[in-house]
Amino acid sequence: MRLNTEEETRYSRQLLINGYSERRQEKLKESTAMVAGIGGLGGNAALYLAAAGIGRLILVHPGELELPDMNRQILMYSKCVGEERTNIAQRRLKEINPFTEVITISEWITEDNADGIVSKADIILDCRHNFKERYLLNKTCVRYKKPMIEGAMDDMFGYITTIMPGETPCLSCLFPEYPEWDYLGFAVLGTVSGTLGTLMALEAIKVITGLGNPLYSELLTFDGLTMDFKKLKLQRDSNCSVCGN
Ligand SMILES: [Zn+2]
Repeated sequence: MRLNTEEETRYSRQLLINGYSERRQEKLKESTAMVAGIGGLGGNAALYLAAAGIGRLILVHPGELELPDMNRQILMYSKCVGEERTNIAQRRLKEINPFTEVITISEWITEDNADGIVSKADIILDCRHNFKERYLLNKTCVRYKKPMIEGAMDDMFGYITTIMPGETPCLSCLFPEYPEWDYLGFAVLGTVSGTLGTLMALEAIKVITGLGNPLYSELLTFDGLTMDFKKLKLQRDSNCSVCGN
């Protein structure tokens, strides 16, 4: 799908990136990214994907914006507290880039809707705050062979990896058992979730356009207190209940 004149101007600075090209920008325009969770991680990721020129975003998140969200929610305004999150996000993202189509689903991810949503996306960004939905997304992405950017944070610490089903470890290879997770109660600083959300958008852009080397079979961890960024090699588990033999 060719860029129109306004898009060529809008994206002119990123078209200058070494190794990037109009064809890569067109791939972005032709692609659909599902952002599961539009809080501190996904709100930022959606914002940068729209600004970069993704063709379509599917935003999945139930419920309304609440005041304690506002320390990390730069996609939304304080005056919108009490409104349905997906509606606010859709409005804001259209203001940022009118060429990005934004589809909203104000629901939890469940066994009933996961197939229908995942199958319509080219790439999935897992920004949910609980492992029940994360495991379900992982299983569905493996079934449909969809790449998934997996990012999570707690306190001042974050991690990110890019899952390519059949090639890299999946989430269940990394966490075969349900990890201990303080559901909705963990500490968050906006700059930490924002950094991670931005890295997730960058990974999605790289996977879609074929630019650079995504974090395949690698886990990037960072510690906001010490500014230690580390990369660890990951192995597939041949006995994995989701992607094993
Ligand atoms: Zn696996």
